[in-house]
Amino acid sequence: MRKKIVAGNWKMNTTLGEGLNLLEDILEGISARPDLETQVVVAPPFTHLEAFVNKAWDSSDIAIVAQNCHQEENGAFTGEISAAMLASLNVDGVILGHSERRLYFGETDEILAQKVRIALENELVVIFCCGESLEEREANRHIEVVSQQLQKALFDLPEESWENIVIAYEPVWAIGTGRTASPEQAQEMHRAIRSYLAGQIGHLAMEVPILYGGSCKPDNAEEIFAQEDVDGGLIGGASLKANDFLSLIDHMEASL
Ligand code: PEP
Repeated sequence: MRKKIVAGNWKMNTTLGEGLNLLEDILEGISARPDLETQVVVAPPFTHLEAFVNKAWDSSDIAIVAQNCHQEENGAFTGEISAAMLASLNVDGVILGHSERRLYFGETDEILAQKVRIALENELVVIFCCGESLEEREANRHIEVVSQQLQKALFDLPEESWENIVIAYEPVWAIGTGRTASPEQAQEMHRAIRSYLAGQIGHLAMEVPILYGGSCKPDNAEEIFAQEDVDGGLIGGASLKANDFLSLIDHMEASL
């Protein structure tokens, strides 16, 4: 069975103290759910990573990942963080290609291809985000756009890399807007992604988790998580409240 994942992207939210309190509440919730099959992932700001890895080291149910890394190994890139630095903290992985990074920080498919490669070389799991804008969806180009994002960043990787790749489909028009893809829209895209992957990597496509992201909340997750090709969620806003996040994990478990 494909891995099921509920991942929280905290973005630029919480001070270290606030973050530790939130993590504590999540860890408490996880230990009250002893038979979890869902892999829980938390992506806090860079400044929290070391403390979070230390706090969560004995829980295999939770993975700590970063929200970004630089595409070069090291060098004169003031303010940036390398994949090797993340690996040296025992961080489990990294989110790459989030639409906010593409939009506000000019990350292109070509830069993302470099980031993916260097993250994998440093044995980080990559949660690779893709998704179309509203304009692209309205022009009925959503599947083509997402396929191109995947093609450009992922398809010259060696086969064994795919064990460490998770795809997150995040329609840009649904991120932080309160507007969610319908379960049918999510399933249509997830199926399209899986069949596109199958065309490139064959049977391995069946093992790649594909998460949905975009205003996913306790009151809409049940139907989305029930879709055949939806293997979990990448959650922004709702991951900042422990109860909501735990409730999303419960919805994922109920769909198994
Ligand atoms: C995200 O930023 O990855 C995200 C899905 O945000 P939200 O859940 O707030 O739409």
